[in-house]
Amino acid sequence: MSPYVPGEQPQGGGWVKLNTNENPYPPSLRALEAVRVALVNDGAALRLYPSPDSAPLREAAGRFHGFDAAHVVAGNGSDDILNLLIRAYAGPGRPIGMLNPSYSLYPVLAAAQHAEVVKVEVTDALGVDVDAVAKCGAAVFFLTNPNAPLGVAFGTEVVRSLAKAFPGLLVVDEAYAAFADADCVALVSEFPNVVVTRTLSKAHALAGLRVGYALCPPLVAEVLHRVRDSYNVDRLAQVAAAAALDDREWLDVTVAQVRATRDRLAAALRKLGWQVNPAAGNFVLAAPVSTKRAASVETAAHCFEFLRARKILVRRFPNHRLTEKSLRISVGTEQETDVFLQAVAAWMEG
Ligand code: PMP
Repeated sequence: MSPYVPGEQPQGGGWVKLNTNENPYPPSLRALEAVRVALVNDGAALRLYPSPDSAPLREAAGRFHGFDAAHVVAGNGSDDILNLLIRAYAGPGRPIGMLNPSYSLYPVLAAAQHAEVVKVEVTDALGVDVDAVAKCGAAVFFLTNPNAPLGVAFGTEVVRSLAKAFPGLLVVDEAYAAFADADCVALVSEFPNVVVTRTLSKAHALAGLRVGYALCPPLVAEVLHRVRDSYNVDRLAQVAAAAALDDREWLDVTVAQVRATRDRLAAALRKLGWQVNPAAGNFVLAAPVSTKRAASVETAAHCFEFLRARKILVRRFPNHRLTEKSLRISVGTEQETDVFLQAVAAWMEG
């Protein structure tokens, strides 16, 4: 099997890093304070194992979404949750399904369980073919919403019709939903076959701590608890994530800032003639063009290298027709966005 290939994490300073959709702002001060408190008495509490089922963190996630903790399973990043779902529900003769393009980790996790992968193509209008998903034959289907790397969000009504039509477990991967206009959390209490996965890595700016969770029917939660590691979220990650979830004000302010910068970035690129997808996450997928170069795989590669030579990192997805001519640009600070746009202006003149 081939491993997942993460975006480049450059060593040394001086990079404008717009390639792995991290939050450009530091996390909630309440999360930092919770870590500090957990480390009192020279860190004596680190001798002890953490809560095995992340109970206080699951309570906090429940408070955040209006569920009780029986509907929440916490993980070491939402990648851990995706892995648990595949371990529990897929395997030989029980394929996983996914949209193509979407998150390239799912096939890696499926390969480790000897599960086949059924890919359902995103339509040219950047929508979901509900019928094709319903009939794809997968035991568990991963719907990345908002989609990464495309950036578009699929409406709650479309996801509701998928939940009705698809006979297996429908996992809505909402890694980027905090930046979108809507989410599908309500569907978890409407349907016995809907799971929503969330992460603290993006909107909450805690990618370095590795925390994610599933919102799911209690029967699914019970299954996931059976297959997870007994202490799958460490002590510091648990307290920081719980405090971050309770700091709604920080989240609202930060998400509003990221959305405003995202919309400014998308508008600026559109004005330059770039083909820009609707952007619902904290990134923008856009196909570069200039007076000398039409949108193409080569143009995207040329622009990528031009930016990289100026220590600006973005990401390319050359393996799909809907992404091969484009760059995916994570939303940075206002200043990073200005640096990026100035470099783009220089590329367009070159
Ligand atoms: N789902 C999607 C669609 C993602 O892009 C990512 C981040 N690469 C994840 C899940 C995983 O996030 P994490 O493991 O950091 O929670």
